[in-house]
Amino acid sequence: MADIKIIGAGLAGCEAALWLANNGVSVKIFEQKPTKYSPAHKKATYAELVCSNSLKADRLDSASGLLKAEMKLLGSSILPVAESCRVAAGGALAVDRDDFSDAVTALVKAHPLIETAEGEVTQIDANELTLIATGPLTQGALADEIMRLTGEAALSFYDAAAPIVTAESLDMTKIFAASRYGRGTADYLNCPFDKAGYEEFCTELQNAERAPLHGADANLTVYEGCMPIEIMAKRGADTMRYGPLRPVGLVNPETGHRPWANVQLRAENKEGTLYNIVGFQTNLKFGEQKRVFSMIPGLANAEFARYGVMHRNTFINSPRLLTAGLSLKKYPNVYFAGQITGFEGYMESAASGLLAAHAIKNTLDGRAAPRYPESTMCGALLKYIAAETKDFQPMGANMGILPPLENQIRDKRLRYEALANRAVDAMNNHLKCDTEEET
Ligand SMILES: Cc1cc2nc3c(=O)[nH]c(=O)nc-3n(C[C@H](O)[C@H](O)[C@H](O)COP(=O)(O)OP(=O)(O)OC[C@H]3O[C@@H](n4cnc5c(N)ncnc54)[C@H](O)[C@@H]3O)c2cc1C
Repeated sequence: MADIKIIGAGLAGCEAALWLANNGVSVKIFEQKPTKYSPAHKKATYAELVCSNSLKADRLDSASGLLKAEMKLLGSSILPVAESCRVAAGGALAVDRDDFSDAVTALVKAHPLIETAEGEVTQIDANELTLIATGPLTQGALADEIMRLTGEAALSFYDAAAPIVTAESLDMTKIFAASRYGRGTADYLNCPFDKAGYEEFCTELQNAERAPLHGADANLTVYEGCMPIEIMAKRGADTMRYGPLRPVGLVNPETGHRPWANVQLRAENKEGTLYNIVGFQTNLKFGEQKRVFSMIPGLANAEFARYGVMHRNTFINSPRLLTAGLSLKKYPNVYFAGQITGFEGYMESAASGLLAAHAIKNTLDGRAAPRYPESTMCGALLKYIAAETKDFQPMGANMGILPPLENQIRDKRLRYEALANRAVDAMNNHLKCDTEEET
């Protein structure tokens, strides 16, 4: 019998299986394809990229590049494969998706310590060492089983989510902090539109290009309370002014008057480094989000830590359910990895597979799960999914979740370089101490 069962041969499952097997742990990995497909999966092979073929930026001084650098230090198997399947994409690591998926599948299938099994898994034995990595489209019997194990009435999912921008990229000369009617503390950042600016914005939004929806998601009915902003705009220019862009109870300190319309930004994290554009759930293409939402006063140079998305995205309530080692608090043998934990994105999902694999190996060796420094991207993502919030939502790698530098650096490129170098040093130190402790 294998040391561990892994459910789902996606990015997280394959990365975890390969790392564990390369470190002497025998694995049995279960994949439902080709017997059963989610609405977005089409290929019979493993590690399928269901949408874009980009694994994002490669430069160390970018959040995605830093994540990749840390993954290499942690022993990623997926990244070297991606690099060998690279297609031209400027500063990004984009891959030929078929070659990538075929190569990962071949690697997994050829490994002497990995056994592969085909078919949908519907039950979990909480006494067996198991890693659940079934992705954001986990459905049916397994979703019910996860709810039973976690004691949650429903798995969280959203149909549409609003974009998140970094605080440092906002033009605060155009934005004012206030709560409606001056109630409580000035928790919101307000972006006031005049009439002409609002009308121009509204026209661009009405005509902006939407992203195609996949399979069953094409039939998703959107709750009125979670309506994409572009659909609201199409209902008429005033609809948004009576909805999320209502200006009532606000006075623009610059004009002394109520704005014609007003966009509110709400802090996304305790540190106040990230802001959510309130009510801007959207299914616009990412480029269109950047173009149109940059018309909002104060957002001309906004940096999007996460774009709005609209698709089924099943994830567990990680802050409540998981330990720092990604196992269930209630059932320590059951681990989770991938997008289902709230690590958002292809590389983030693979990274969480690596993190879970390291924790599992430690458990098998009778050691505690590793504690990564918060200044690393991996440590910061783990911290993010452990932080209790009222409305837990997935998060991808971005510089906004790293603790600020001790000395402020104004130039963004230099600041990101310093943050990345600090993170790589911290990860190297962490791994060095970990090895010394082991020997
Ligand atoms: C429609 C859509 C588009 C996305 N586009 C992007 C994008 O462009 N860029 C980006 O960075 N991220 C994107 N994501 C988010 C995320 O990065 C991907 O979903 C990523 O593939 C998640 O990796 P994972 O390993 O968690 O899950 P997956 O890669 O989805 O792997 C899960 C695997 O588990 C299998 N499985 C599921 N249930 C069972 C079961 N019961 N038994 C056995 N096997 C099972 C599945 O068949 C699948 O192979 C998208 C997500 C969705 C849903």
